[in-house]
Amino acid sequence: MNLSALKPKVKGDVLFDVPMRKYTTWHIGGAADCLVLPKDAEDIAAVIRFAMANDVPYTVIGNGSNLLVLDGGIRGIVIRIGEGMATYTVENTLVTAKSGCTLTKMARETAKLGLKGLEWAAGIPASIGGAAYMNAGAYGHFFYETLEAAEIIDRDCKIRVVSKNDLSYGYRHTSLMENGAIVTKAMIRTSYGDKTQLLAAVEETLKLRRKNQPLDLPSAGSVFKNPSGDHAGRLVEVSGLCGLRVGNAQVSEKHGNFIVNLGGCTAEDVLTLMDQVQAEVKRQYGVVLEPEVLKIGRP
Ligand SMILES: Cc1cc2nc3c(=O)[nH]c(=O)nc-3n(C[C@H](O)[C@H](O)[C@H](O)COP(=O)(O)OP(=O)(O)OC[C@H]3O[C@@H](n4cnc5c(N)ncnc54)[C@H](O)[C@@H]3O)c2cc1C
Repeated sequence: MNLSALKPKVKGDVLFDVPMRKYTTWHIGGAADCLVLPKDAEDIAAVIRFAMANDVPYTVIGNGSNLLVLDGGIRGIVIRIGEGMATYTVENTLVTAKSGCTLTKMARETAKLGLKGLEWAAGIPASIGGAAYMNAGAYGHFFYETLEAAEIIDRDCKIRVVSKNDLSYGYRHTSLMENGAIVTKAMIRTSYGDKTQLLAAVEETLKLRRKNQPLDLPSAGSVFKNPSGDHAGRLVEVSGLCGLRVGNAQVSEKHGNFIVNLGGCTAEDVLTLMDQVQAEVKRQYGVVLEPEVLKIGRP
């Protein structure tokens, strides 16, 4: 299939044979056959219609901050929702952010406006779409606390708004993950607060992240979900696994649940290291760690 026929159908850029390491925070991943950088929801719908009509697989990604793209790359079309769709509007306490805005940007911007509700999210490099898809969370808070509704493109390629009440959600999980919906906007309900205090809370959150997380090296944040009543990072640490290395992937010395890319690391290195960590934690503590990062593409 000649994917260049897609070009005239969308306003955003259409690129070919694009190394996905440029679009993941781990800086890992083989090439996508075709990468589309949409300008709006209509662009996304046009790509999906094209893909369906031509039987070409498609994958949607946001900021690539929770993804392990395998070394063989991704066949078909990757729709990357980012800078082309990164504006927001504010009406009283309701903030409507397009999916390509980042959560960390929205945490700061809302605080600057004296709007309370997202301070805990400072430093999370998720796109708003990715945060709504996975229910990003930190420090006892989660995105669905403030999400009021989302604009989505459904399986029939229709753009519509769903209320939070129509969705189910839990720890790093939402019903959007089951029904193949693509999030194009999130309506976030904040409340009025004191701008100075909110900005101080944002700074405090960022300070905490810098203190506890290896932000100087590429990663995808927490690799494993926290098992009920415990922390995956704690289990990795007490199992003596910090510093363990496979190729250029290393369990961070600073945070047990981060695997960092020391430079030129492959997805295979990360997968082998994840297997070793899971096996050792299971052997020592009988806990099976479940991956939080999502694996896409071909080995
Ligand atoms: C340094 C660091 C710190 C982190 N800290 C946290 C943290 O504290 N809390 C936390 O929850 N996460 C954290 N993460 C992980 C990550 O930011 C979240 O999992 C986030 O929700 C992923 O969003 P994304 O836009 O990067 O999605 P991607 O990684 O690009 O994609 C993840 C999944 O979401 C889907 N997706 C993305 N956008 C859309 C969309 N618009 N519509 C439908 N599906 C979509 C993709 O198909 C994929 O299945 C951290 C990551 C890093 C690198």
